[in-house]
Amino acid sequence: MGDMSAATVKNYTVMQKLANVILIGLLLFVRIQTETKAFSFPLFVVMLSSVCVFAVVDSILLHFGYFNKSVVFNAVKLIELIAYFVFYALVPIGTVMAVVLMLAAAIVAEEFIVSSSGYDRLVIFSREMGVCVVAVISAGISYAVNNEIVWVGVLISIILCLLSVFFHVAWQLSKVDYYEHELSEIKVKVEHLSDSNKKLSEYQEKIRQVNEEINYQKVELKTAMKSLEQLNTESNSQKELMKTLVASFDVKKCVSTTINTIMEVKKPKLAAIYLEEGSCRNKHAMLYSETDYTKMDERLKADADRIFESVKKTKGQGAILTGGSINTYEFVGENDIKALAILPIGSDKVYGMLVIASNKDTFFDQGLNFYEAVMAEFDISVKNIVLYMKTEDMARRDGLTGIYNRLYFGQLFGETVETIKKEGKPLAVALFDIDKFKNVNDTYGHLAGDEVIKLVAHTAEKYSEVNGGFAARYGGEEFLVILPGYDENTALPVLKGMHEEIKATIVDTGKYKINVDCSIGLTAYPGLCDNPDILVSRADKAMYYSKRHGRGQLIIDSPMLDEEKEEE
Ligand code: GH3
Ligand code: MG
Ligand code: MG
Repeated sequence: MGDMSAATVKNYTVMQKLANVILIGLLLFVRIQTETKAFSFPLFVVMLSSVCVFAVVDSILLHFGYFNKSVVFNAVKLIELIAYFVFYALVPIGTVMAVVLMLAAAIVAEEFIVSSSGYDRLVIFSREMGVCVVAVISAGISYAVNNEIVWVGVLISIILCLLSVFFHVAWQLSKVDYYEHELSEIKVKVEHLSDSNKKLSEYQEKIRQVNEEINYQKVELKTAMKSLEQLNTESNSQKELMKTLVASFDVKKCVSTTINTIMEVKKPKLAAIYLEEGSCRNKHAMLYSETDYTKMDERLKADADRIFESVKKTKGQGAILTGGSINTYEFVGENDIKALAILPIGSDKVYGMLVIASNKDTFFDQGLNFYEAVMAEFDISVKNIVLYMKTEDMARRDGLTGIYNRLYFGQLFGETVETIKKEGKPLAVALFDIDKFKNVNDTYGHLAGDEVIKLVAHTAEKYSEVNGGFAARYGGEEFLVILPGYDENTALPVLKGMHEEIKATIVDTGKYKINVDCSIGLTAYPGLCDNPDILVSRADKAMYYSKRHGRGQLIIDSPMLDEEKEEE
C-alpha cells in the first residue's frame, strides 16, 4: 500500500477516536449495570486511559505527519488492536456483547461517512475486519472464562462482516456510477472538443484562404506597383519628349527624339518612323530607325513605301501582329521577332507610320496607348512645324508672284555670297526690268499688268531653279536672277534663253493679247566684279544701259558702263 493523503488520515482517525470513546463509555456503563461481582474499576480506568493515550498518540503522529506513512499508521493501529484484544478478553461476556453491538453501530456509522468520502478503502476495510476478529476472539475468551453463550458474538461479528462487505460493494458501485458519470462528461467534453476542433480547422482553412488571398493580392499589388512605375516613367518621358517637340521646328530632330524616347522607355528591338514625301516639305519619303539587329533598318527602308501603302488603307487603325503573320514582312528577316506593331501617323490624313518590333510575344500586352499618345504629340508637332514653315515661307515670298521678295533676297544673297566665297566658286547676278510697263498698265489695265508681272516672274524663277539658283522680285516690275556656280560665260546662255521666253510669251487676258520685252543687266563674281557687295548695283547699271540704248537688250557688265556715265 502506498502513502495516504493527509485528509484521509485525518478524517479516519477522528471518526476512530470518537467511536472508541463512545465504545469505552458504553462498556463502562454496561459493566456497572450488569456486573456486580467481578466489576474491576482499575481495569476500567486502565482501559479508558489506554484509549485516551492512543487518541493522544494518534493526534501527535497526525500532527507531525507520521500518519501519512501507511507503515506507521498500520503499526499504531495494530498495537491499538492488540490492546483492545487484551481488554476484551478480560471483560465478561455480557460486556463483550454490548461492546460488539456498539462496535457494529460505530462501524456502520463510520462506513456511511467513509463511503461518501474517498478514503483508502483497503486500509479502512482491513481495520474494520481486524476489530471484528478481535471482538470474536475476545468473546470466545470471555466465554471460556465466564462460561456464557458465544454464538451471539459470532453472529454479530458475521453481520458486521457482511455489512462491511455490503458497504464496500455499495461504495465500489457508487464509484462505477461516478466514473460512468465522469466518462459521459468526458465524452461530452470530447464532443465539444471535437466540435471546437472542427471549428478550429474551419477557421484555419479560412485563415489559409485569406492568407492565400492576401498573398495573391500582394503579388497583384506588386504588379500594379510595377506598372504604375512604368506608367510614371512613360508619362515623364512623354513630358520630356513634348518639351523637345514643342521647342523644335526641325522635323528630323523631332523624329529622332521620338524614336530615342520609345527605345529608352519600351526597349523594343526596332523602332522606326516613316514620313511620306511632301508631308513636312520633304522632297523624298524619309525613314528614321533604331534597331538592335544589323541591316534590319536597311531592309525596312527598302520595303517601307510598300508597307506604308497598306497602312494608308487601314484608316488610322494601328495593328499588332504576332506569330506567323510577322513573317509576311520581309524586313524582319531571320531575326527572332515575336511581336510587331504598325501605327499610322496623322489625325485626319495618314502621312506616315510608326513601326515597333520586339522579340517578346507579350510586348504589346498593355496595348498601344503609349505609342498612340506619343504619335498624337508627334503629329501635332509635325503639323506645327509645317505651319511654321508655311508662315515663314509666306513672309519670304512676294504676294503677287510667289517668288522671293526683296527682304528675303537680301538674307539669301548674303548667305549665297558666303558659300560661294568659301567654295571658291563664281556667282552670276542678273537684274531685269520690263520695258515700258507703264504703257501696259495704261493700255490694258492694272489687272492685266499684274498677270504680265506674274508670268515674267515665273519664267525667271523657272530658269533660276533649273540652274540651281533663285529669283526674286526686286521692285515693281524689276527682278533678280541669281546663279551660284555660274560665271558670265555660263550664265549668258541661261539668261538669253529666259529673255527669249519672256519675249515670246503672250499674256492672254481674253480681251487682249499682250507681250512684253525687258532689259537685262548681267554681272558675275569674280570675273566681272570682284566685290560681291556691289554685284546688284553693277547689274542695275548694265540694265540701265539697255534702257538708255533702245531697251530689249541683255548688257554684260564692263568698265565701259562707268565711262559712259562719265561722258554724261
Ligand atoms: P521703262 O522701265 O522701260 O523705262 O518704262 P516703264 O514704263 O516700265 O517705267 P516705270 O519704271 O516708270 O514704270 C513702272 C510701272 O510699273 C509703274 C507702276 O505703276 C507699274 N507697276 C509697278 N508695280 C506694279 C504691279 O504690281 N502691278 C502693276 N499692274 N503695275 C505695277
Ligand atoms: Mg520698266
Ligand atoms: Mg521699273
